[in-house]
Amino acid sequence: MKNSKVTTTDKADNKVVQLHLIKNNKPSTENTSEAASKRETAKSSVDLSNKNNRSELSSDAFVIMRVNELNVLEETFGRSVTKELTALVTRRLQACLRGEDALEQISTNEFAIMLSNISSKNDIEKLVQRIEKRCNGEYVCAELKLHISVTAGVSLSSQHAFLYDEQLRYARIALRHASDKSSRAVQFFSPTMLDELQERAAMIFDLRQALKQQRFTLHYQPQYAVETEEMIAVEALIRLKGQDDQLLYPDSFIDLAEETGLILPIGHWVIQEACQQYRKWQDLGCAPRYIAVNVSPKQLADNSLIEIVDNAVQEAGIEHCNLEIEITEQHLIKHMVQAEGILKTLRKKGVRIAIDDFGTGYSSLSYLGQLPLNVLKVDRSFLQQLDDNNRAAGLIRSMVYIAKELDLEVVVEGVETQEHHQFIQSIGCHTGQGYGYSKPKPADIITEMLMPEAEQMKIAK
Ligand code: C2E
Ligand code: MG
Ligand code: MG
Repeated sequence: MKNSKVTTTDKADNKVVQLHLIKNNKPSTENTSEAASKRETAKSSVDLSNKNNRSELSSDAFVIMRVNELNVLEETFGRSVTKELTALVTRRLQACLRGEDALEQISTNEFAIMLSNISSKNDIEKLVQRIEKRCNGEYVCAELKLHISVTAGVSLSSQHAFLYDEQLRYARIALRHASDKSSRAVQFFSPTMLDELQERAAMIFDLRQALKQQRFTLHYQPQYAVETEEMIAVEALIRLKGQDDQLLYPDSFIDLAEETGLILPIGHWVIQEACQQYRKWQDLGCAPRYIAVNVSPKQLADNSLIEIVDNAVQEAGIEHCNLEIEITEQHLIKHMVQAEGILKTLRKKGVRIAIDDFGTGYSSLSYLGQLPLNVLKVDRSFLQQLDDNNRAAGLIRSMVYIAKELDLEVVVEGVETQEHHQFIQSIGCHTGQGYGYSKPKPADIITEMLMPEAEQMKIAK
């Protein structure tokens, strides 16, 4: 791409004028909306399909640098303080840049920086790291000592993008990657990030389609009474039927459903479907004590959850106490404030409340006294460590003890072997769930497992 590099200072100056970026050493005086409208002009000038123009407009690297705490600082101290802070950041940034570089504040908390005339990626890395180090740290403004950190996304034109728009987009993708997926302060764009984004967009589209086309299905995993080895409950676990009829497991789509809010209609369907299935087992006279469904944080923050549960229970003609909702410990702690009221209401109606993946989410146990719980489900990672770790045995024993002291039922997850079964039996655990008893299965297979043999034969006739 070296032919697209701007090689003379004159050209570099031209470019700054053309893009309306602030030439280095000139502090920003324009406000964000002015900057935005100027950026629009800049973008349109780049959109020209003429290759010669493209080569003049690309830079060697395009950086978007975000001041991470700016929004919170603005809420805390007001706009005048953050304006002063931004001006100080601009000054520090300018001190790092060279004459041929260009800088623009593109939003309240973001700067775009164009670096030109640098031939090696190594030099670009060094420069961006210098910028990051210089801008991070303490600032004194309006007699306050403020501390900020910055995150930067970098796009290299030689490798990926030739146009201003492309460079901006790729730098933004790298920035998002730095914030969401890595703890790096500086992230360079790579094409795999684009692949991931495209896969994500395809999955979001597929989730929407799956809802319309009713391609979700529930499998059910039995929970067994450890003493009697009787199936006392089932947990409903969602699967997505892919276009090719392959089943996709929740780990590949639940987080995305949560992020996009699609978990609300999906979760609604899960509750309805589970209640309907429970009613079918009741009609066959083989229903277990209850059916458990997993509920996500967005559902717990949504007051309509209570109405959804009421309607699902009523339409299926079952009791509230036949339904259990499972919330992972990690999610519950994060969303305690919203969750508490909804859980109390559901509990009053008789719905059972279980803490899922217990032992992995939090270091304080005080919430156990605060919430209306029925069940602790000990995360399967503890049993998995049992073979080579005596402490795992001690931890499971302690969790079962805590549950009993608080008058809670306890389910140990991940029972895979006879040894696991014997161990949980030896420590007086009520209930176990795991592949060693049964993997999650479609409803018709669970029906066969629930029905006594004589009844199965009657139905077969
Ligand atoms: P979870 O609620 O803790 O469910 C148990 C998961 O562990 C299930 O994976 C199950 O197949 C797996 N499992 C059970 N016994 C064993 C065992 O002995 N060994 C091993 N290695 N694994 C075992 P699955 O079905 O892939 O679900 C994963 C997670 O996805 C669930 O973990 C739950 O957090 C979430 N999930 C499933 N269905 C739903 C749903 O309808 N809504 C929401 N919000 N989340 C769901
Ligand atoms: Mg669960
Ligand atoms: Mg679990």
